[in-house]
Amino acid sequence: MIPAAYAVLDLEAVRHNAQMVRHYAPNAKIMAVIKANGYGHGLLRIADALQDADAFAVARVDEGIRLRKAGLKNRIAVLEGFSCAEELDELLHYQLDAVVHSFTQLEIFEARPVPHRTNEQGKIAVWLKLDTGMNRLGFKVKDFSAAYQRLNRCSLIKQSISLMTHLANADDKTDECTLKQISLFNDTVAAYSGQRSIANSAGILGWKESLTDWVRPGVMLYGISPFPDTTGEQWGLKPIMGLHSRLIAVKPIEKGDRVGYGGSWTCEKATTLGIVAIGYGDGYPRYAKASTPVLVNGKRVPLVGRVSMDMITVDLAAQPGAKPGDPVTLWGECLAVEEIAHCADTIPYTLVCGITSRVQIVEEVACSPEQKIIPLRTTFI
Ligand SMILES: *Cc1c(COP(=O)(O)O)cnc(C)c1O
Repeated sequence: MIPAAYAVLDLEAVRHNAQMVRHYAPNAKIMAVIKANGYGHGLLRIADALQDADAFAVARVDEGIRLRKAGLKNRIAVLEGFSCAEELDELLHYQLDAVVHSFTQLEIFEARPVPHRTNEQGKIAVWLKLDTGMNRLGFKVKDFSAAYQRLNRCSLIKQSISLMTHLANADDKTDECTLKQISLFNDTVAAYSGQRSIANSAGILGWKESLTDWVRPGVMLYGISPFPDTTGEQWGLKPIMGLHSRLIAVKPIEKGDRVGYGGSWTCEKATTLGIVAIGYGDGYPRYAKASTPVLVNGKRVPLVGRVSMDMITVDLAAQPGAKPGDPVTLWGECLAVEEIAHCADTIPYTLVCGITSRVQIVEEVACSPEQKIIPLRTTFI
């Protein structure tokens, strides 16, 4: 039986998207960003699909440990680094790269007793982070040299120190601050050796000046455009996630009937309503506006009324023959998640990250386009 709400993941598409990263940044090494449970697609699943990545990046130490415990051998960078001595121990033990972004971290390094003889195995690879305008993590330009010297004196670190920064507004092609960030980074690190990394997805696709030794693609690996005015498809990317459900009731409504909590939508012309078994309890956005497109039997119909926890309602005027059990797609190959994000006043990142554990995950095995609407030859896990 087909579950009420399920996400079909096309893991071939992940590999395709990684190839597209190579196409846009042919000379760079790829640090595949798989934080937040692989942007909602499954940490280990995405890591497994991207075994060729030159490195992985996660946000937190526990995500890195999960990858190591699953047997992953690639380099793994922890973007938030460590914030106490215990976390530093874990990074060392699990051989995870640390991003070093604060003086507090340097103090933790310096307070650590130096082992007598440390071979390379007992050392840690570090990415020193410069804050070029994001004002989140990273050393200020004026502190960079001092931070570099102090880090460089730590006997625990592997040589040489890699250097990174993060772009704050690269998804806005008109904002000059991206070029300023890039030149501030280049100028500040000019005197130091070490691998460099600047670009996130928006940098890779929109700012060739940001392409350096390493690129750090996140959202584009999942087939999603980082820019508000394009879809991943327009960049040659393929969506990984399709979110699906089915109709569980179909009923006529009269002019003047109000639908859903708060009665926020009033029927203007007698029509047929479809009730779909998906809601914000599954991660469908609560703030999706009336008229947000939904596919019923592969055809667009508008959302009406408020999204509730377990259900949404759609106007089936354009689908008079629809019946309970018919397949519904909320986003995926034929309905860009970027469009849904726009209708819900959010970004596609939050939609894919927000899929809840109630949604069954189906890994797609090669199947024909017709079967993609109702993925029959799939394994439920
Ligand atoms: C999340 C993140 C990325 C990836 O960003 P996308 O916009 O998803 O490509 C890269 N670098 C850092 C430091 C990040 O936190």
